Amino acid sequence: MQCVKCKKKIDNVDVYCGYCGIHQEKYKKYLEKVENKVHKDRDREYNKNVKNAQNKLQQLQKSREKEIQRITSERWETIGNNALSYNMTEGKVIVNGSTYLFSDIKGAEIVKQDSSRVVTNTTETSKGKSKKHASLGGGLLGAAVAGPVGAVVGGSVLGKTTSKGKTNVVTNSNEIPTCYHIGVNVDINGFSTEIVLLSNTVDQSSNIHNNTVRIAQLIVDKLRSLSQTPVPKKFLKPEEEQSVLDIEKEIEEAANELKVVSDNKPTYEIPESYLK
Ligand SMILES: [Zn+2]
Repeated sequence: MQCVKCKKKIDNVDVYCGYCGIHQEKYKKYLEKVENKVHKDRDREYNKNVKNAQNKLQQLQKSREKEIQRITSERWETIGNNALSYNMTEGKVIVNGSTYLFSDIKGAEIVKQDSSRVVTNTTETSKGKSKKHASLGGGLLGAAVAGPVGAVVGGSVLGKTTSKGKTNVVTNSNEIPTCYHIGVNVDINGFSTEIVLLSNTVDQSSNIHNNTVRIAQLIVDKLRSLSQTPVPKKFLKPEEEQSVLDIEKEIEEAANELKVVSDNKPTYEIPESYLK
């Protein structure tokens, strides 16, 4: 081997150089220390540049993913709080979490189950004064009435008058139409699946009932119209859209920049002055 200082040929096992007397290991460490000190700033600068280039590249890759997600979700429209999602660009619908083509939809109809509840009013007339008692009748009356939208169980008034001495008691029972189930039955290639929109009992006069019926009708109309809409044979994938390609161009440039910056790693030669 060579002496680390005077470069003259010495024996591998020599701790000290026989020519210049330098302790080989100690001098090597000293050189490393000097080298580190001298080049620390350039190394730091280099690392910073690499880090910046890496961050820039990562940010661009994230924006590409975000842009793809934006395009993807923008293609989907929904009805009734996501009860039905459809994609005109790709000719797809999502029914109960599964994705189908427009052409898979063979039919759609509203499913509605109605019933009624009874409210009993008792009127007591005594000595010219009258008291009213109202009680909400429990339970559903009779069998479920399934019918087309808009079918209403007519409210009926059943009157009953009893006399106890001078007290007149009149009992009126009102039948209030209710609904306990609204959905849309979808025929998908001969298999039926139901989008359930309402599964608790509400009065037919309530806003929730009327809104749900309206949404069910919108879904049926939309599904019927989609089933008649040709599935697009060709469409750009979200990652093929121009806005994504533009970002990819930037990614390519950033990747090249990172390579250039990384390749620009400082190399050091031990200054001659330290070898003397
Ligand atoms: Zn030497």
